[in-house]
Amino acid sequence: YGGRRSSWPRAHDEFLGGLLAPGMDRRSCRSRYQSSRYYKHFPFAPSPHLLQKLRGYEARHRRCAPGTPLYAKAVEQLRSGHSAEGGTECSYVVWLPFDGLGNRMLSMVSGFLYALLTGRVLLAALPPDSSDLFCEPFPGATWRLPAEDFPVANLFGVGQDMERSYTKLVDGMVAANATAGVAPSYVYLSLGWLLRDGLFFCGEHQLALRRVDWLLLYSDLYFAPSLYAVAEFQDELRRLFPEKESVHHLLSRYLLHPANPVWSMVTRYYRAYLAPAARRIGVQIRMFDHASIPADDMYGQILNCSRQEHVLPETDDVGEAAPSPTASSGGSKNPTTAIFVASLYADYYRRLTSRYSAAKGGGATRRVGVFQRTHEERQATESLAHNQRALAEIYLLSFCEELVTSGLSTFGYVSSGLAGIRPAILLTAFDHVVPETPCRRAASIEPCNLTPPRGVECLSRPADKDDLARHVRVCEDFKDGVKFF
Ligand code: GDP
Repeated sequence: YGGRRSSWPRAHDEFLGGLLAPGMDRRSCRSRYQSSRYYKHFPFAPSPHLLQKLRGYEARHRRCAPGTPLYAKAVEQLRSGHSAEGGTECSYVVWLPFDGLGNRMLSMVSGFLYALLTGRVLLAALPPDSSDLFCEPFPGATWRLPAEDFPVANLFGVGQDMERSYTKLVDGMVAANATAGVAPSYVYLSLGWLLRDGLFFCGEHQLALRRVDWLLLYSDLYFAPSLYAVAEFQDELRRLFPEKESVHHLLSRYLLHPANPVWSMVTRYYRAYLAPAARRIGVQIRMFDHASIPADDMYGQILNCSRQEHVLPETDDVGEAAPSPTASSGGSKNPTTAIFVASLYADYYRRLTSRYSAAKGGGATRRVGVFQRTHEERQATESLAHNQRALAEIYLLSFCEELVTSGLSTFGYVSSGLAGIRPAILLTAFDHVVPETPCRRAASIEPCNLTPPRGVECLSRPADKDDLARHVRVCEDFKDGVKFF
């Protein structure tokens, strides 16, 4: 780790070095108070400036949250069709759900960072599939948007429709030769992988958006590294995060806490299967349809990666036994190494199980346990129970000492970010071709922004290019993506 790899927090500092505010109800969100006992790495202490900013944010959130007079006033203004002239005390970013759980967690964190930078309040429009996933993150006030009373139609159904994008609105104003008159009551930001609104990352548009009380954020990306390319945000980000590698790590540990039902799944499983081991290795295997390869090749890639990066215990390369027929349990009872597999399928779990049970070698391989909590077979983001199980696995991965994750997978990005680990990232089989290099060690803990703005010509002053080059680089797993390092 390039940054401050310190031994804090001492003896389970449940508030993570001041990151979390005290005084919330312990019973309503047990994970908030207990997760520090499970994390293995605490590579970065939050900066004093970040702590001050978070406490300021919490006070603002309490003043402006649903249920307050200021919120009622802001909704009234929204109904009027235009933003208040001269600005209002409370302005908002409304997070809208888009894509799978990992994507959503990344856009929540990015949206929160944007709210911190711009003095806004983050509210989440949570659909039923996400209703009981996360705890309330802010003390004394809700972050849930009362979507049923919200005066914007079809809130969950807007998609990446160009017609509703901010860019379309700007184009319309230019075409009508409109001068900056009254600002609209809300603007819809299309910041998903199609990135309709690349203009969002220009200083002059940030200036214009300041006049809009409500921003509706539709994104499945970790767009934080692209905020750093906006000159107006660069200095503040530098102060908030002296180590750029810590942005997602600190903000996700601050913002995201599994709700009690998920936390019960996590802790029960952890205690039964992972806690007895001296060392835990998480292996997250995500197969995308557009980059699928035969399971034999994928398994070979995992083993080659492991050898290259020295991750899994080596066997004596005895022949591997036939896979066991069930995925309900595996490995030795009291392993020194627990391998936790997260995958939609049982195949790799079975292969790893038989690899270690077949190994005749002594030493480390004799006491390797392989575990998989579920194999759901298919993504089912519309189901709350499915999402709860997926979230449980993200946290189980984040409690490992070492990680192998899949390239391009936001599920993997979020797990390593929470863990504070630079994972070995399995490279994607683009065009279904097995990659020659099986994996690369991540240059930082940070997730990749898979769709940064390209070809957008901003008018405002550019960001400090040398500084950008020192802190933002091409992703290990995607040449068109960028990440902090
Ligand atoms: P990405 O598609 O890999 O970037 O990750 P997302 O989390 O955004 O979407 C994938 C979704 O598929 C997850 O949210 C889960 O619903 C499901 N999924 C994928 N891999 C796993 C896994 O290892 N375990 C579980 N329980 N669900 C998974």
